[in-house]
Amino acid sequence: MNAILSFYNLETLLQNERLINHTEQVLVKVNALHLSVKEDETTQRNYIITDDETYFNAFVGTTAKVTKELSELKTLLKDNKQQTVRVNQLQQSIESRLRLFNQGIAIFHQEGFEAAQNYIRQGNGLKIMQQIDVTIAQIEDTENALLSARTNQSINSANRTYATILIETLCNVFLIFIIYYLVKRELEYRNTMEKRKDEFISIATHELKTPITSLQVFAQILQKKLHEKGDQQSKLYSERITKQVTRLTELINDLLDVSRLQLGKLKFEKTAFDLNHMVREVVESLKQTTDNHTITIKGKIKKSVYGDEDRITQVMINLLSNAIKYSPNGKKIIITLKNELRFATVNVQDFGIGISDEHKTHVFERFYRAYGESEKNFPGLGMGLFISQEIMRRHRGKLGFTSKEGKGSTFFFSMPYAKSEKSKA
Ligand code: ADP
Repeated sequence: MNAILSFYNLETLLQNERLINHTEQVLVKVNALHLSVKEDETTQRNYIITDDETYFNAFVGTTAKVTKELSELKTLLKDNKQQTVRVNQLQQSIESRLRLFNQGIAIFHQEGFEAAQNYIRQGNGLKIMQQIDVTIAQIEDTENALLSARTNQSINSANRTYATILIETLCNVFLIFIIYYLVKRELEYRNTMEKRKDEFISIATHELKTPITSLQVFAQILQKKLHEKGDQQSKLYSERITKQVTRLTELINDLLDVSRLQLGKLKFEKTAFDLNHMVREVVESLKQTTDNHTITIKGKIKKSVYGDEDRITQVMINLLSNAIKYSPNGKKIIITLKNELRFATVNVQDFGIGISDEHKTHVFERFYRAYGESEKNFPGLGMGLFISQEIMRRHRGKLGFTSKEGKGSTFFFSMPYAKSEKSKA
């Protein structure tokens, strides 16, 4: 609506400007014509008085000029009926004056200077000149009135245009403010909901931990008792219970870590420790979970590293259990320990399914799973790498990988050495 109004006002403004321009052109032309007519009259008079050929030639030039300017004025005023009538009157007066002059010349040539002077003294030429002055004044008055009316109109439309633009700008500012306010409110609402959700997960997982821990303990006791009794069937069942409860505990721990990370509550207790020992322990314990893989360790870290051993163990478990999980047909897993200048690096290489290029940039995202729902063979919730990456970031370390779909992946983590520790042999 505002845009239409602005357009309309601007259009009127431009139209008025065109009309004002036209009126000014008419006034200039009328003025020029008036001067030319006077000049023409003077040269006529001079010629009759002096009989000097120079004046006659000048008179021919000024008459032609008057004719030309009159015709231009006619064209300019052709749309205005009242002014056209006056221009026609003007034309008649100019023609009468020319006729009068021709008669004067004829008298001058036939009867002499005296007779011509008497003819001029009759004052007919003067009357026609007065008539011409009056008509020109009328034309000028009408044009001046038009000019002032159009100027006023122009000022009004300019004011209206400014007012519309001002209102439009204010409306836009108001609109932007409203949008900003709504977006801000929506974002705040989302942030609050997100925070509430994280807090809920944190509390819920914490609450779940207590009964699960009891379940784990009782399942282990049950397993031991059944073992003592020699009831093989029941012992098998209780082993399955223990395994599932362990899996449940791991999931709950991961969920708890994710929510702690989101809330900035993940704590680290850093000390100097032996990475070789930690890696060996993890390998030993995860070997129990697979019959298909041979896991070899190559190399040795020569210095102690500095970090939260439990959290780094968590990263190692994540990388090695992924290597096992995502290489169902690959037998080998190679762990390489490398001493770099400022970091100790652990590579975990598998020869499994690998990761396609389209998934590579996402695997560290929270809850991201490259194979999604469709891949039921690989259970998981997409939390491990997200947590591991955050753990390494908080150690000023690094977590990364290279991978080729169908060929396998090498995940690695690097962490700083402990400062005071001396190099180990
Ligand atoms: P989860 O294994 O529980 O799904 P992770 O965060 O540990 O969660 O891993 C995220 C995703 O990265 C996995 O779903 C998997 O698609 C991919 N991934 C991780 N490690 C490997 C690996 N060694 N080989 C192939 N894909 C992997």
